[in-house]
Amino acid sequence: MALSRLDNLYRQMILEHADHPHHHGTLEGSDRQLELRNPTCGDVLILQLRMKDGRISDIAFSGEGCTISQASASMMTDEVISRTPEEVEKMVMAFSDMVTGKEEPEEDYYDDVLGDASVLEGVAQFPARIKCATLAWKAVYQALHEEDEEESNDRGNA
Ligand code: ZN
Repeated sequence: MALSRLDNLYRQMILEHADHPHHHGTLEGSDRQLELRNPTCGDVLILQLRMKDGRISDIAFSGEGCTISQASASMMTDEVISRTPEEVEKMVMAFSDMVTGKEEPEEDYYDDVLGDASVLEGVAQFPARIKCATLAWKAVYQALHEEDEEESNDRGNA
């Protein structure tokens, strides 16, 4: 992967998250669970979360995937904890716009909305990696928008 073209600091943060992913594992008694795949790369992501008082109270991911997909999932879990579904939806849209190279609606918008996950902005330079980066964000979006279904969900529409 052409990570070498990314800014050094960003690359370091991405590798750090991929090597030591945050919230990696499984949640007991999760409220929502789903599995998403990115067939173009082979990434598999299983996401579990718990809600409390209308906010995400805990989240975990497992599965296997490339550096970008793992780093993105790790960063996503850090950013969405304690957020409401509405806030997460805004983040998911911003993330998708960012990695597809859309211009920010205002200066520092992506930084403000996405926090550390905005370091993945460089992914926009690698079209083949965009689906790797968005996988985890699609997963949390879908997990929040499913009705309270218990069964895991594999639509394969990454
Ligand atoms: Zn990937």
